[in-house]
Amino acid sequence: TEPGAAAEFTRAEARTAHNYHPLPVVVAHAEGAWMTDVDGRRYLDLLAGYSALNFGHSHPRLLETAHAQLDRLTLTSRAFVHDQFADFTAKLGDLCGKELVLPMNTGAEAVETALKVMRKWGYEVKGVAADQAEIIVASGNFHGRTTTIVGFSDDPDARDGFGPFAPGFVTVPYGDLAALEAAITPRTVGVLVEPIQGEGGVVIPPAGYLTGIREACTRENVLFAADEIQAGLGRTGRTFACDHEDVVPDLYVLGKALGAGIVPVSAVVADRDVLGVLKPGQHGSTFGGNALACAVGSAVVDLLATGDFQRRSAELGEMLRERLEAMVGHGVVGVRVRGLWAGVDVDPAVGTGREVCEALMARGVLAKDTHGSTIRLAPPLVVSEADLAWGLDQLAAVVSGA
Ligand code: PLP
Repeated sequence: TEPGAAAEFTRAEARTAHNYHPLPVVVAHAEGAWMTDVDGRRYLDLLAGYSALNFGHSHPRLLETAHAQLDRLTLTSRAFVHDQFADFTAKLGDLCGKELVLPMNTGAEAVETALKVMRKWGYEVKGVAADQAEIIVASGNFHGRTTTIVGFSDDPDARDGFGPFAPGFVTVPYGDLAALEAAITPRTVGVLVEPIQGEGGVVIPPAGYLTGIREACTRENVLFAADEIQAGLGRTGRTFACDHEDVVPDLYVLGKALGAGIVPVSAVVADRDVLGVLKPGQHGSTFGGNALACAVGSAVVDLLATGDFQRRSAELGEMLRERLEAMVGHGVVGVRVRGLWAGVDVDPAVGTGREVCEALMARGVLAKDTHGSTIRLAPPLVVSEADLAWGLDQLAAVVSGA
């Protein structure tokens, strides 16, 4: 890092809580798949803001939309209706094949919304006795950072020291359909799972898992909420990760790329018989569904409706898979790839995930480790084939010790 970036990094770390351990890079601007630091050094972005930047940095259409909306109207609160709301909810509902959309801001808020909706549905529609609702979640999950959500995490970093936690959650091993089915009781109102676990290291469940959950939920009168916050919106080569098994959950939980890295936009998307349980005053958010968020969200759905990004993700994903599989045995011990999304388990003998990411940074590539020696790759879907190939050359060099 050059002196400018080093000084700026020190300044940035000096006055913040250390709830993150960032790589020592200080970005000043970015376009497409490339970021430039305060000293003018360029980096290929292989994280894409944890998939918030699926359409890349500074996407011209999205920026134009945001700029135009900024000049007109940003927020009314939902005490009033604004002229971007109907378009956004209709377009996003259509993309999901669902009737209703409940917009929020962050992913964790959308997850909380889904939990509240499933519980209320359980009491009012399914007829579960008051305060007895159970929601089934999976081991290794990551759904956000609120006290309720970390209460059903099994990651000690996420939960230790933050109790007491909300009751009503039952954890079963991720990918184990029989265990999930066995956990369903008359009190079960919902199942909340990530169709692919992102923070867990891009963990892909066995084929048939999502189909099995869908069938079990239908059979047992239980709602299926798919947390597609990181997996959805083009990342895996399809609009939703559930599409790979042609599964339609009862609730889509969306975030990250829905706001394209411009504004926080999240949503729960479901049919009227589910989201209809909420009545005025029972749930809300000052910023949820604001005009700027809806304008950007609508433009995002327009981009997704073309199918171009999903296709690109699927096509480039094949190259990503081939290149990563070729690294197995050469400093890599395992890879999991779906679309332009990969978990790469680096041989611990090569170094920690953190050390690999630092070595990549020195070569002009930014990626992020997750859980020990796993690196997650999630380039913007607009990355060029040549740039991605170059980035993978850098990874191959680092892990093989070249
Ligand atoms: N759910 C999943 C699957 C995620 O990957 C994340 C963030 O990484 C969240 C929920 C939480 O989203 P946010 O950080 O916007 O609250």
